[in-house]
Amino acid sequence: MTARLPIRPRIENHEDIAAYLQRCATANNLTFIELTGTRRHAQVWETPSSSQLEAAAFQTETTVERLREAALTTAFAAAKPARTMTGRRYSGVPAKCPECEVDTVAARLAMTVLCPRCNVLLADQHDPHPLQPPTVLSDVQTEVLQTVARARRSRPARERLARLESLMKAQEWALWRNWPALLPGEATEWRERVMSFTANHAEPGQILPARPPALTAELMALTWQPSATPSETSRHLDNVAYMSETWAPPKTGELPAEAQQRAADELRRLANLHGLRFSHIPTTIRHQGDSIVLPRHLQTTRAAQAIAMAAVVHSLSTGATMTAARVVERQGHKTTDRVLRLATRMIRNRHMWTHFAAHASVLHSEGLLDLERLRGELRSLTAVPRSALTALPPQCLAVTRPTEIAAAWVWLDATQGRLAGGPYPAMSERAIRRFDRLLNPEGRLTLREWWQERTEQIADQPSTEPRGQRRERSTG
Ligand SMILES: [Zn+2]
Repeated sequence: MTARLPIRPRIENHEDIAAYLQRCATANNLTFIELTGTRRHAQVWETPSSSQLEAAAFQTETTVERLREAALTTAFAAAKPARTMTGRRYSGVPAKCPECEVDTVAARLAMTVLCPRCNVLLADQHDPHPLQPPTVLSDVQTEVLQTVARARRSRPARERLARLESLMKAQEWALWRNWPALLPGEATEWRERVMSFTANHAEPGQILPARPPALTAELMALTWQPSATPSETSRHLDNVAYMSETWAPPKTGELPAEAQQRAADELRRLANLHGLRFSHIPTTIRHQGDSIVLPRHLQTTRAAQAIAMAAVVHSLSTGATMTAARVVERQGHKTTDRVLRLATRMIRNRHMWTHFAAHASVLHSEGLLDLERLRGELRSLTAVPRSALTALPPQCLAVTRPTEIAAAWVWLDATQGRLAGGPYPAMSERAIRRFDRLLNPEGRLTLREWWQERTEQIADQPSTEPRGQRRERSTG
């Protein structure tokens, strides 16, 4: 319909074009489709065409310029809608201001959490009655939106927004598993409310696809300051990686100093009496129930723990110190600067020794394996022969490139480490987890027997469990 509407509401300050056209349709007893030929939540209203703008301007007696200002890509030309944390809000459910009830164009972006008209927290279907957010949020929101406005011309502004995005992503994990210090003026009640949303909605190990404004607000307020410079960002990401650890040694009721002393004694005992050496330490730490490839948020801290543990075991068994970088070099893999920085911190941190002692006990009870030698022997294994795969479940053979995936699986199973340093350091982690899920116990045993025969790998000590059943903890 292209006639002038009998009733023509005025567009509100900050109002989104589609929200405005919806009000016009409703006022005239029309549906949105009857008025515009599209759906209310069609993405086309983020970048309407000239003919759509002209038609709407005529129908509503508004100028084309005013309507264009109400479209996302004009109003926030420098925003990056595709970003998961700061970009487009999940479609179809606009966040509304509970006070003025206007759908603002700004609210199409996830990083807009306060109504630009009323400065109150936006409400959406996940959290229809939000609490009062910490006051610090108002300043953060203003600065974020000013940075978006500058981003078109300013490279530093664009870079800061990119850092903010990566920080928010990383912070989300640490937020669920830890309790970062409260923000200035932040109430425990508010924080609990934010956390309980995820407890009720998120799958373990998954980043939420749809975050209510309160959660985005919390993530943004926790990370905006650290996004100021690359070095602050890096420091914050180090801390976040460190805090992503979910595992802790069982509580003993000892004082920290006592627990640390006992851990050091235990590590010395394993080194002196049972021959625990550098070569027995894997390149990542996996605990019972962990998947064969760790989830992303744990990879940094667990790789750092393994490197630090290898350095500590080396120094206890030989008396010589070893840097984190030298550990990585000798183990024959690659890692990031962040992992090296964390590992260096952990070598000095006596609390981490309680982790190392717990893991060393597990390695010992399962039979110490010369993982360094295994890595050397399996590094060039790029495919498991088809003849060795015949006993696997048919679904395992139906995956893409099964002989290569089996080689990557064998590498992980035998070395208990990471993909780094192996034949496929960049192989799809998802594909390997899927292959591992498809393997039945017999399939695992077959592959395990195959690599054990191939490497003639002998444990330094007899194992207490039959071979082949060991390390089930690290698959699944
Ligand atoms: Zn409002």
